[in-house]
Amino acid sequence: MSWYNKRLAKSIWVYHMSASPCNNCDIEILDLLTPKYDIERFGIKLVGSVRHADVILLSGVLNQKVAPQVEKIYEQAAKPCFVVGVGTCPASGCCFKDSYNTVEKREDVIPINLYIPGCPPKPEAMIEGVVKLVGVLNA
Ligand code: SF4
Repeated sequence: MSWYNKRLAKSIWVYHMSASPCNNCDIEILDLLTPKYDIERFGIKLVGSVRHADVILLSGVLNQKVAPQVEKIYEQAAKPCFVVGVGTCPASGCCFKDSYNTVEKREDVIPINLYIPGCPPKPEAMIEGVVKLVGVLNA
């Protein structure tokens, strides 16, 4: 697996999966592709299908309505596929934490390998998170 991870670290293909966010995190994720941040210079490319993804960027809270779809989409990803929770929503539920339909055991729906905190996190924090992931893959 480590040879695979080392190859992966050179060119990560990322799929953006939006669970049930307020959309602020999604806007910040899209900022990564703008000329100001230009995340593609690190070999990180946003892909349109989870079947091509090495990493899933998950934004938003998991609620009863989206959890089955999130689970189904994750199942379609080629493994190993790393999941990065963007924002406070995937980590703790944020302001939706006590909502009637928020899923309590997120790990039962999708395994999240890394969390990037913030509401929303700044693009710099996301880049740092992905760089840390690259460091883990290279270890
Ligand atoms: S973490 Fe904050 S900004 Fe991001 S989706 Fe949740 S509520 Fe919105």
